[in-house]
Amino acid sequence: MKKSDGKSSLERVKEALAAAKKYEAYNIFTKLNEKKALARAVEIDRRIAAGEEVGRLAGVPYALKDNFSDPDDLTMASVEMLKNYHAPVTATAVKRIEDEGAIMIGWTNMDAFAHGASTENSVFGVTLNSRDKTRVSGGSSGGSAVAVALDIVPFALGSDTGGSIRQPASYNGVFGMKPTFGAVSRYGVVAMASSTDTVGCLAQTAEDTRLVMSIMAGEDEKDHTTLPDFFDQPVETSKLRVGVIGDFMGEGVDTEVVGAVKDYIKKLEKAGHEVAEVSLPILKYALAVYYIVVPAEISSNLSRYDGIRYGYRAKDAKTLGEIYGRSRDEGFMPENKRRIMIGNFVLSSGFFDAYYLKAQKVRTLIIKAYEEAFEKYDVLVCPVAPGPAFKVGEHDDDILKLYLEDVMTTPPSLAGLPALAAPAGETKSGLTVGVQLIGPRGSDARLLQLAAEIEGAK
Ligand code: GLN
Repeated sequence: MKKSDGKSSLERVKEALAAAKKYEAYNIFTKLNEKKALARAVEIDRRIAAGEEVGRLAGVPYALKDNFSDPDDLTMASVEMLKNYHAPVTATAVKRIEDEGAIMIGWTNMDAFAHGASTENSVFGVTLNSRDKTRVSGGSSGGSAVAVALDIVPFALGSDTGGSIRQPASYNGVFGMKPTFGAVSRYGVVAMASSTDTVGCLAQTAEDTRLVMSIMAGEDEKDHTTLPDFFDQPVETSKLRVGVIGDFMGEGVDTEVVGAVKDYIKKLEKAGHEVAEVSLPILKYALAVYYIVVPAEISSNLSRYDGIRYGYRAKDAKTLGEIYGRSRDEGFMPENKRRIMIGNFVLSSGFFDAYYLKAQKVRTLIIKAYEEAFEKYDVLVCPVAPGPAFKVGEHDDDILKLYLEDVMTTPPSLAGLPALAAPAGETKSGLTVGVQLIGPRGSDARLLQLAAEIEGAK
């Protein structure tokens, strides 16, 4: 982490809170955690003064995406349905970070239920891009990305189901890690799509990213999909075989994005890695597969919000049907409803084979294509997104255009692979461009070490 310059935890937290207020116009936070953060800083300073063990993140302020549970306050996921929801548990990732002494200063804005790629789809309004306030921050972890980019906090937590950490990281020039599926416990994180949901972080350096990931990673008895921690293991990064995914470097991709990614590739070559182009044509079907499989899982995960057990309940609803119907109608955003409808459609008996089953078969082919590629290459490289941050409202009239922003981030999600977004450069107008480093399952630490090697290289 950036040197504290001899500052106390209290000074650091006060500075972070002041910066959060200074940048209010960006609409980064859904709420600040001022009172508790200040009290915690005082407590950590006291423990430092008493010579007690305080942890590897002692006094470091951080921001938390609003879909992580913390019983001290609301977990709203930027949606009406959860606006008054007090989670009964603490997310494991949050607990592990806090056990190392980090101090949460505020919850960040996101697309409602994490459905989106722009942080426009939130009950709290749009989060603006750190470089250009007429543009989106990306999503769904837009608030977290902007908080890190504007140096309010050195790191923030996010979730990534199909790009929600990587894409806003790319749009704001910071690092964003989506780990191997199962690397970090999802216990206490509002579920989106169970077969691709991951927990990760956004940070200012590759080294910080690795530290935060290694703290969060590892088995958790509360989430049986978790794997042993593989962030701390030593990794070999001399002379790696790098495959550039040619399918994502041509048509439909902004030339300045391609240029920045090519510059990054040159740095990889200069550092002694062996670079070749690889074609993975099957990946062009990943987006279609994603938008069948993920809505199917969303429709199932969101069925729990019935206005009875928890979450929003419509006022004056008289019958059971009215409670279900109106609570869901008033509590969900239009994009949530669209996904529920798509999900129910592709799972319905008449269409299951044609859509859901076929999508799962293609998903298997995508996994196989990656496995074959990783026999020849250690790392695959491509842009994070086809363009830099787009204008607020640009995709309002065409949802497919918004979905297309996910074309390069959804393939690794479907295959459960680790994927890191790293800053690659800027466009002439100063918008940031990210490169995506993708590796076989469990190679998370190697991706981060490679990015650390290239970081700052000319
Ligand atoms: N943009 C993608 C979607 O809308 C990814 C979202 C996510 O990773 N949470 O589904």
